[in-house]
Amino acid sequence: MEDIILVRFGELMLKGANKKRFLKTVRNSVAQKVCNPNIRFEHAHDRLYVHLNGEPYKPVIEALKVVSGLDSFSVVTLTDNNLATIETIALAHLKNRAPSKQTFKITTKRADKTFPHTSLEVSKTIATACLKAHPHLTVNLSRPELELTIEIRKRGTYIYSEKIPGLGGFPAGIAGKGILLLSGGIDSPVAGFFAMKQGIEIEAMHFESTPLTSIESAQKAMDLCKPLSLYNTQSAVKLHLVPFKAIHEKIIEMVPEPYLITIMRRMMIRIADRFAERDHTPVLISGESIGQVASQTLESIKVINDVSRIPIIRPLATMDKKAIMEVARSINTYGISIRPFEDCCSIYTPKKPAINPRIYYALRYERLFDYETLIDEALTAIKTITVHVNTELDLTTHGLTVAEAVQESRDR
Ligand code: ATP
Ligand code: MG
Repeated sequence: MEDIILVRFGELMLKGANKKRFLKTVRNSVAQKVCNPNIRFEHAHDRLYVHLNGEPYKPVIEALKVVSGLDSFSVVTLTDNNLATIETIALAHLKNRAPSKQTFKITTKRADKTFPHTSLEVSKTIATACLKAHPHLTVNLSRPELELTIEIRKRGTYIYSEKIPGLGGFPAGIAGKGILLLSGGIDSPVAGFFAMKQGIEIEAMHFESTPLTSIESAQKAMDLCKPLSLYNTQSAVKLHLVPFKAIHEKIIEMVPEPYLITIMRRMMIRIADRFAERDHTPVLISGESIGQVASQTLESIKVINDVSRIPIIRPLATMDKKAIMEVARSINTYGISIRPFEDCCSIYTPKKPAINPRIYYALRYERLFDYETLIDEALTAIKTITVHVNTELDLTTHGLTVAEAVQESRDR
């Protein structure tokens, strides 16, 4: 008898020419997250079997919950093809779960046709034993609250009673890479999560205007990368910190107030777009959600989008705030996002931002200063840090700029 974890994949993943690559990527992410040399992985019947070899299953389940591309998983007991043993184990599986349920169903699949009992006979025998042990239960074949599955195969019988839903989506990084524009707010981390879940490896880019804005807002961006890193390739997020103060100040000095945010966003996109091109990254990802604020009307999105030569993916485009906040809580970014520090967009918020900006005016105001030089300078001065879930880096060390704080942590 052995406890193993049975991992199922989404149907889409198992179709087409990419199947092999998909399965290999998932297996590698699971192995990397589980990180226990005693645990062995095995592919069979389009499933992944995690052989625990006596290790506890809970940490493995927690690791599997952050691996994209998984449909569901179950803790399974693998035992001999013997009806009496199957009954004992079935009862053990139901012992803790049955008292809180009213209805149940036994499903038997007999792949090993040499087994002397039919599926129906097995189901009936086990159901009778279950009813004897838990007389309050009734059988419900269409919508049972509890389902016990018995799979009789050549190498043994697999028994499980719970299917834990996986993240779904596609294996980490399988779709290629994107640059996530990460503010300190609630939305962009959630956008990053959705992108990763769909198989996009992310690198984050944060525009910081210290000391015009507080260094805590850059710290927030860094702290947000920690929970996000769990879902990314290699369980790490590269964070590119872009010094934005010089551009920010110029915009405040030169641009009429209603266009401040529009032009600030266009400058961010220009920088991200050029960075992505240098890095052969095909897309940008932002946390924009249609209609949420003035800079996210369709007309604003059009004017901001206009300066990017590569697609900007907006996973939250049509989601409402409540749903976004729910996801933010479930991925542990919410608590960090609501820490009260202004970022470059909340400082000097225009009283009447343009909700219907025009490209013509944006270009006209941008001609008032030499932004090309400033963009080149910002690109050259980008500082990159790699963030893991346990990264300890305090950027708020007294009196240092972001760049100095990053450098100091490297030197330490
Ligand atoms: P968020 O909650 O992500 O901050 P938001 O609803 O506050 O979003 P905006 O402030 O209008 O929206 O920003 C729209 C998007 O622009 C953000 O989701 C993010 O992708 C990007 N963005 C804004 N500020 C920054 C920044 N300082 N650094 C990097 N990206 C930014
Ligand atoms: Mg914001």
